[in-house]
Amino acid sequence: MSESRPSKNYRTKAVVLRTYKSGEADRIVVLMTEDHGKVRAVAKGARKSKRQAALLEPTVHLDAQLYRGKGDLDTITQVQAVDPFPSIRADLDRFTRAASFIEATDHVTPDREPHERLYRMLVGALRTVAGENPTLTSAGFFLKLLALEGLEPVLDRCVSCGAEEPLVSFDTVNFGTRCQDCRSGIPISDEGIRICRLILTGGLAAALKLPDDPVLDDVNRLAASMLEHQIERPLKSLGVV
Ligand SMILES: [Zn+2]
Repeated sequence: MSESRPSKNYRTKAVVLRTYKSGEADRIVVLMTEDHGKVRAVAKGARKSKRQAALLEPTVHLDAQLYRGKGDLDTITQVQAVDPFPSIRADLDRFTRAASFIEATDHVTPDREPHERLYRMLVGALRTVAGENPTLTSAGFFLKLLALEGLEPVLDRCVSCGAEEPLVSFDTVNFGTRCQDCRSGIPISDEGIRICRLILTGGLAAALKLPDDPVLDDVNRLAASMLEHQIERPLKSLGVV
């Protein structure tokens, strides 16, 4: 590992995933960085500086100067906002959604393994949520995250018997659709399956433009269940859906 260590002082863009208090005035910050993967760092005196405290909050996109010491924790020496996403912070629906992306990213990312594509995907998703926030943003992020981690669901046949249609449910254990005869798991319509496939075959932009319809919420719930099953835990930030 030592050969991939950044120099002692380094600078990177990052999204704040999580923070917690440490001692009297410090804050530990978990960052998804552009260049070094997930990094834990201490922000000394952060709780005494209003400017810093405002930036070191989950979902904030920032530019950080860090110092790599001998331990597991780096030290944040300077932070600047890239985009604090005020609209996410001002709106509970947006914040809940952004928090679920952050939580999922946190769970799939080991410490200090560079994963630039996931970093970019997270920043892109946060920008979308901060902007028009189309309904399928959640399914888009969760399905793309599964694909990025090599965990794409089977959506073109029954995972039990191989039949190609009619597919009527999704089996989270065998991670694929099931036909009418083998149905078990989460019911899903033809249209819902079609939308999942569209997202996974380069059609996310088109999916995000689909007019609102209850099927979009079904797809969001299904995609969240897929991800929760793969990371083997519920996404706390989604609460009871
Ligand atoms: Zn079947």
